[in-house]
Order: sequence, then C-alpha cells, then structure tokens
Amino acid sequence: MEKKNIDWSNLGFGYMKTDMRYVSNFKDGKWDDGVLTEDSNIVISECAGVLQYAQTCFEGLKAYTTEDGKIVCFRPDLNADRMIDSAKRLEMPVFPKEKFIDAVVETVKANAAYVPPYGSGATLYIRPYMFGSSPVIGVKPADEYQFRIFTTPVGPYFKGGAKPIVIKVSDFDRAAPNGTGNIKAGLNYAMSLHAIVTAHEEGYAENMYLDPKTRTKVEETGGANFIFITKDNKLVTPKSDSILPSITRRSLVYVAKEYLGMEVEEREVYLDELENFAECGLCGTAAVISPVGKIVDHGKEICLPSGMDEMGEVTKKLYDTLTGIQMGRIEAPKGWIKVIE
Ligand SMILES: *Cc1c(COP(=O)(O)O)cnc(C)c1O
Repeated sequence: MEKKNIDWSNLGFGYMKTDMRYVSNFKDGKWDDGVLTEDSNIVISECAGVLQYAQTCFEGLKAYTTEDGKIVCFRPDLNADRMIDSAKRLEMPVFPKEKFIDAVVETVKANAAYVPPYGSGATLYIRPYMFGSSPVIGVKPADEYQFRIFTTPVGPYFKGGAKPIVIKVSDFDRAAPNGTGNIKAGLNYAMSLHAIVTAHEEGYAENMYLDPKTRTKVEETGGANFIFITKDNKLVTPKSDSILPSITRRSLVYVAKEYLGMEVEEREVYLDELENFAECGLCGTAAVISPVGKIVDHGKEICLPSGMDEMGEVTKKLYDTLTGIQMGRIEAPKGWIKVIE
C-alpha cells in the first residue's frame, strides 16, 4: 500500500481529512450494521440532542507503525469500555465493545495510507464519538444516535524533545463531586475552554484542577492525568471519583510496578505536599507523558527538582518503557497491542 505524500515529521496536532470514516446509526432501539463512507459531513436536525443539550461523548486513541512494520493500536478494548461508561452516564445507548474494536480496525485499515511510518514520531489519531441526532426540545435523552469514527494523522507531540512545562493551579473547577468528571464527555471540555484560554493568556501551558469540594487535593488537568515521582522513586497518582481514568496513566502504573519494580501509590494527593515531589508529569494518549517543571499556586512557585530543561530521570524511564512497548521494541503485556494489519 502506498503511503500518502505527507511530511510526517512536520505535521501538527490538527485535523486533516482522510479518505474514509465509519458511521453507525441507532434507531428504533438498535444499532445498524455500520458502514465506511467517504462523506465527511454530517446532516442532522437543527434540534438534535447534541446541539441543544450537548448529549455527546468521545474517545481518542492512536494507530501507528511498529518497528517490524505492522500497523497496530494500543488497548482499544479500554477505549470501548470507557465509552460504554460515558454513554451510560449520559443516557445514551451502549455501542457494543466488539463492534467498537472492529469499527476501529476497519476505519484504520481503510486509511492505512495515512498511518505514519515507524520512526517518524507521527501517528494516526483515531476519534470515535457518539451523539444524540434526533430532535429534542423538552429536556430528555434523544431517541436516535450516531456513532462515528474518523482518523487524522498527527505529528510528533514534542518536536525537538519534551521540554518541561509550567502550569498553574486553577481557580476554576473541572468536575463537580458526583458529576461527570470521570467520563469522556464533550461537556467537560466546553466548560474548560475559558479556563485554558485564560491560563494561556497568563503564560501557562495547562491548568492544575483541584477537587471542587475542599480545593485542597489535586485532580487533573483539562485533558491529562497527573503522575508524581517521590524523592525515593515511588510513583504517586491522584485517586478521585471525578478524574477521567486515563488509559495512559493506568498503563504507566502497570509499567512502573511490573517492568520497573517501582512502588506505586494511588491515593489522594494534597496541594501542600507537591513541594516534596521530585518529578511531575501529565499523561494522556497525545503526548504519553508531558513533563512538568513548575507549578504556580497563586504566586507561590513550586519548582520540581527535575528542572526546566528535560524530563525527570524516572519519568523518562517510564516514558521510554511505555513507548518501547507501544512501538514493539519491548515485549508488551498480553492484549495491549491490537494488530490491524
Ligand atoms: C482523555 C482524557 C485523559 C487522558 O486519557 P488517555 O486514555 O490516557 O488518553 C485525561 N483526562 C481527561 C479529562 C481526558 O478527557
């Protein structure tokens, strides 16, 4: 298969239309068989549930080429499970797990020419999503839904190495107690936009959100979970019901324990203990880990000992091990790598 003529290593993180996308409709209480289509436009009622009351959820994962030339993706079963949780919480129909994984495989196969070559640092980002498509004006769940997957090639997240970022403790909240923070819903992002635009204007790369109830505990950023490394090499990651369960974070916890023999603590992390940590990172599919060099809490600067020049030593080990597993350089735990072709 001939690859598209794309300058892979200079791609940004933006949308580029690819050849095919997957569409399945839910009507009369059931999902249809689903098809691949060239049509990238969606026509829905002006009163669709998604447009009026934001009834929508999504997932994000990547396909890429391994060292031995296979096209694979990473733990799509966990994306399927998480989308099921999101759908239930938003009163949307569940898109069955096996069907989800098959749809991901079919969509990537149909766009194989856009999967970047090994070593380019680029990947094919996969975006499954679902929304209420039928008219809703009185507040209730829609009767009809559409599940879709598109793909878009994205560049290496860090061009020229991962530089530590500076983040701020936000005065805005991301997720209410007993709210929707633990599902991947568009609504969580809509209300984070003002907070992130404000943080960027102030010169910060990201927001650190606290637990809204006591504002003493660390939650996550707008789109990535935290990991911290203690001075005696333990991995600490916040535990909270309002954090989105990152697949990258859960994989790093496993890697820390099983590959690096580290001790791991998943527990509440207090704002006033941050200065004791040696390293800090943000984890998510896009970057795997972004190192944090400094956290600013209302003028008080917490400088991680790992500094502002490069990723902390332990964070780097975690990063290299997980990306090594993803790229086929290190043997993966059973079931982590889904071979597409
Ligand atoms: C998607 C997402 C993450 C990262 O999850 P991954 O599965 O690792 O990509 C973290 N936080 C939020 C709020 C997210 O939406």
